[in-house]
Amino acid sequence: MTDSPAEPTVFERIVAREIPARIVAETDRVIAFHDIAPQAPVHVIVTTKTAAYRDVVGLAQGDPALLAELVAVAQGIAAELADGEFRLVFNTGASAGQTVFHVHAHVLAGNSLAGGLEEGTLAGA
Ligand code: 5GP
Repeated sequence: MTDSPAEPTVFERIVAREIPARIVAETDRVIAFHDIAPQAPVHVIVTTKTAAYRDVVGLAQGDPALLAELVAVAQGIAAELADGEFRLVFNTGASAGQTVFHVHAHVLAGNSLAGGLEEGTLAGA
């Protein structure tokens, strides 16, 4: 199932190099870059180069191997930029804080994450 939006998302424009980003990892099908508004010492967005999936539910149904690749890239980033441990957040739907409807994970890492799911992790919490 594909459900790409009519207008290119900001992440599609980053993939196309139309918008600059601090890219930290890239494979044939996945790209990762620092979030423009970091919420943790390490806050990296990992997304698919395809804009076919608006959220993790669509990706899991449509291309589970690509979801697994995205998770592997996230793990590599946490190992490279932090101690290898990380929180992986997929905001799914506007009421859960999703603002960019192009499937992506937030890789959050760094020692300030100790203490569990903190207030403010989701927009509007
Ligand atoms: P969402 O709220 O959809 O889960 O996550 C979207 C994320 O994309 C937000 O954390 C936001 O800061 C980030 N973001 C939005 N626009 C840009 C941009 O132009 N560049 C980068 N690097 N991050 C962006």
